[in-house]
Amino acid sequence: MRTEEKTLEVSLVKRVCPTCTKEVDAEIVMNTRLTTFDAKNVKEMHGKVVGMLDHPCEDCKKAAPDGIYFVGIDPEKGGKQEHELWRTGNVIALKKSAVKRMMPDADISKGYTYCQDSLIESIKQAAGMS
Ligand SMILES: [Zn+2]
Repeated sequence: MRTEEKTLEVSLVKRVCPTCTKEVDAEIVMNTRLTTFDAKNVKEMHGKVVGMLDHPCEDCKKAAPDGIYFVGIDPEKGGKQEHELWRTGNVIALKKSAVKRMMPDADISKGYTYCQDSLIESIKQAAGMS
């Protein structure tokens, strides 16, 4: 008996939050070329991480609804691509209005940005947090 080979598959893939690195359900993918080969590839993607979100996850947004996240990185380590950046583990959120005032040229459209730890330490000192 020959099993029927599917030519269409649908999968739910995950992406990593740039702020907390949690894996979250991101998008549904399906093959557009209706071949068993493409369908099999889509089926194998189910539940796998395919990249990073371009914004903080819902939990991070909830934790700082009006915030911009500063994610500490070490530029001497890791790679140049976003998923290769070397995270130091330092993360801080500042109010969007404060960031606009202090760094008018900063691109805050994504809700997060990467920076060196020295900036995060300066912010903490200025805020009396360290
Ligand atoms: Zn998150």
